[in-house]
Amino acid sequence: MSLPYAEPYKIKMVEKIYRSTRAEREKWIKKAYYNLFNLKSNQVYIDLLTDSGTGAMSDKQWSEMMIGDESYAGASSYYKMKNAIKDILGFDYFLPTHQGRAAENVLFSTIIKKGNIVPGNSHFDTTKGHIEFRKAKAIDCTIDEAFDTTKNHPFKGNLDLNKLEDVLKKYPREKIPLIIVTITNNSSGGQPVSMKNLREVKLLANKYAIPVFFDSARFAENAYFIKKREKGYENHTIKEIVKEMFSHASGMTMSSKKDAIVNMGGFIAMRSEKLFKEASVYNIMFEGYITYGGMSGRDMNALAQGLDEGTEFNVLEARIKQVEYLGNKLIEAGVPIQRPIGGHAIFIDAKRFLPQIKKEEYIAQTVAVELYIVGGIRGVEIGTILADRDPVSRKNRYPDLELVRLAIPRRTYTNSHMDYVAAVCKKIFDTRNEAKHGLKILEEAPIMRHFTVKLNKIK
Ligand SMILES: *Cc1c(COP(=O)(O)O)cnc(C)c1O
Repeated sequence: MSLPYAEPYKIKMVEKIYRSTRAEREKWIKKAYYNLFNLKSNQVYIDLLTDSGTGAMSDKQWSEMMIGDESYAGASSYYKMKNAIKDILGFDYFLPTHQGRAAENVLFSTIIKKGNIVPGNSHFDTTKGHIEFRKAKAIDCTIDEAFDTTKNHPFKGNLDLNKLEDVLKKYPREKIPLIIVTITNNSSGGQPVSMKNLREVKLLANKYAIPVFFDSARFAENAYFIKKREKGYENHTIKEIVKEMFSHASGMTMSSKKDAIVNMGGFIAMRSEKLFKEASVYNIMFEGYITYGGMSGRDMNALAQGLDEGTEFNVLEARIKQVEYLGNKLIEAGVPIQRPIGGHAIFIDAKRFLPQIKKEEYIAQTVAVELYIVGGIRGVEIGTILADRDPVSRKNRYPDLELVRLAIPRRTYTNSHMDYVAAVCKKIFDTRNEAKHGLKILEEAPIMRHFTVKLNKIK
């Protein structure tokens, strides 16, 4: 008989969380205008808003914090980070930045011009924002399978090579400064990209002499899925897979708040000295001198240690098994979720959860609010509210998918918390027929309305 799985760590420090009552939550969410972003964190029992910067650092990371070097130029912490990036990811040059979108800002300021085209696989929203801000265009070349939540495919983050080649053929070389491959593909539900696909994208890009950059926030989770799902990689270590993955990239941007398991930080890494020199100018202008770029020495130390830990098989296995644990409980309860279960979050398919609610009444937000009222759980809507209005017609854009994302912070909650989350979802799902109406918007900002929107319940 095989023994059950258990986490490869024990707990050294705990943080108290408050278990509120339903009556308190009904009052608080009404006061927050049914917008979960408006809640105070102590009004939330289990916070699954994001896994970005919300993970628990290890004892080793905390001890690295104590020996950070806060020198303005040439700090030892900078060299610790530089060595970790060279050893683990294989890049000779890097620039620290304060987080992932800052890395995008610096890199894109260097290479994206007005009218450019940037193909990729469902660009992350800050990536797309930084492309469109420069009057350039992001073109999504993700495989079609990614858009069907019921379809099982081991690598739903993959790029469709035909779609990609169509774009590369259509535009002149100088219009396409780079191809961005997001690993894992966040916008399609934390879905991985296969090594084969990374290799083929690189070959195709070489044919057209276009550099490939990885948007790498969850690169280690991507490597874990390659090990588990792609033939030929079963016996490779995560660090070997990571090295091979990045061998297919000219450079990368990183939000270290994800797989480097720190609360704040990011970087750009690249092979080209020329690009490094050009990007350094923008880094100094926007972020800070090139040996700290918006990070303190102690944070660079913790990041270097986090890169090493985050690419340990045992650390990844514990994380991904916890996400699967919750996902499988929900599947057992009949709750409709995106399949296969992704790396960092569970996505509830709200249209299949509450088919009786009209799309004009914000289906996913309705489910997210219920999760909070019934269980004190904070997820996030990825649906009509997030999709914003069409900039020209000002009509709501109704996306195909109405999702509620439950993102699991790294090393933060136990599986008892996951049992609790699953029980709350099941309770709401079992009484779903009682829901007659969703929500209406009272007030909204012209763009990025999801952060500040005010809503009310339709009676
Ligand atoms: C989080 C994330 C970003 C942005 O990083 P921040 O650290 O939040 O600025 C960019 N791309 C992907 C894929 C991400 O997950």
